[in-house]
Amino acid sequence: MWHRGTVRLVPVMGRSMNCFAAVFREVGAPLSLETIALDPPGPSEALVRIAAVGLCRTDYHVIRGERRVAMRPMVLGHEAAGVVEAIGASVGGVVPGDHVVLTFIPGCGRCRWCRQGLHHLCAEGPRITQGPQLDGSYRRRDAHGAAVGAFCMIGAFAEYAVVDQASVVVIDKDVPLDLASLVACGVPAGVGAARHRARVKVGDSVLVVGCGGDGMNVVQGARLCGAATIIAADRVDAKLAWARDFGATHAVKAEGEALTRTVQEITGGIGVDHAFVCIDPPATLLPAFRATAKGGNVVVTALTPDTVGEIRIPPLELFVTQKAVMGAVYGFASPRLQIPELLALYRNGDLKLRELITRTYPLAEINRGYADLEAGRNLRGVVVFGR
Ligand SMILES: [Zn+2]
Ligand SMILES: [Zn+2]
Repeated sequence: MWHRGTVRLVPVMGRSMNCFAAVFREVGAPLSLETIALDPPGPSEALVRIAAVGLCRTDYHVIRGERRVAMRPMVLGHEAAGVVEAIGASVGGVVPGDHVVLTFIPGCGRCRWCRQGLHHLCAEGPRITQGPQLDGSYRRRDAHGAAVGAFCMIGAFAEYAVVDQASVVVIDKDVPLDLASLVACGVPAGVGAARHRARVKVGDSVLVVGCGGDGMNVVQGARLCGAATIIAADRVDAKLAWARDFGATHAVKAEGEALTRTVQEITGGIGVDHAFVCIDPPATLLPAFRATAKGGNVVVTALTPDTVGEIRIPPLELFVTQKAVMGAVYGFASPRLQIPELLALYRNGDLKLRELITRTYPLAEINRGYADLEAGRNLRGVVVFGR
């Protein structure tokens, strides 16, 4: 979004530029809308004009202090797509003009996991809450000259971002960039959890607890896998209605023991083959675990606040029921593989993307977007940059 009355900023190699950004300064406070200075890309980096960035719940956990980051100020925003405007001297496979999706875990290409194609497990992953670029330095400064971090080494709540090539996936230009932003986080997280982590099979039964950005995509992932029974659980009526549109066969407004009981009734007392915990694991993991069939899978796709140190599952119950409890970040598959594949599914009409976007906002109204997320009004809110 450009300020009315200002001329368009044109990046010049070798000089820093100003750009409008939503900056995380204080826990619990609205994001601060300000102009920051952005340095040109380093040798392995690209300057990306952000076209769209999703309002994922993870950034909201950071704003609320439930997911700690190592520094402030920091530009949040990690579910983004845009256009490359400039590249550093050693960048390969990316050129100015490319349309790109940014990945919230960098794929360094060198660590044990990246060498195995497991980019979602990259050894650099734990550094995404620290603030600096992949090379350890900063590209952003505020009006006082203080270093500004970039959440997930992306910092996409801004008109522009400088990111390492390890965080860039080039996509075909036929996909609208607002839809492409969705395959940066929520869509692979959910669809991948069903396809790659639980490996849902034709005819299986599935429970999805929490039908937001991740959960709704678990629903469509389970549908893609041919699940026969897909039970969506949420406390918001609108999300249950949307879940049916995305492929849920049952919509349940129940929590805790009532949820377990309802799922057991639907499945004839057996439980589901796969349960997905897509919201508030401290409250939902045990009910989902108990709604799962013996030998089944329980997949956690949601973040638990740093303030919660443990979740209890009775160990004898775990042992005798022989269930697997597992985590899935990024849908447990490399975004470099998933992003092109998901866009191909979209092109074929097999994956809903447009339907995921409830509302769009200019960057200046990002705090209203998060208020709408908090109120349960959005399946996905997206900040779009009109030009
Ligand atoms: Zn996200
Ligand atoms: Zn790596």
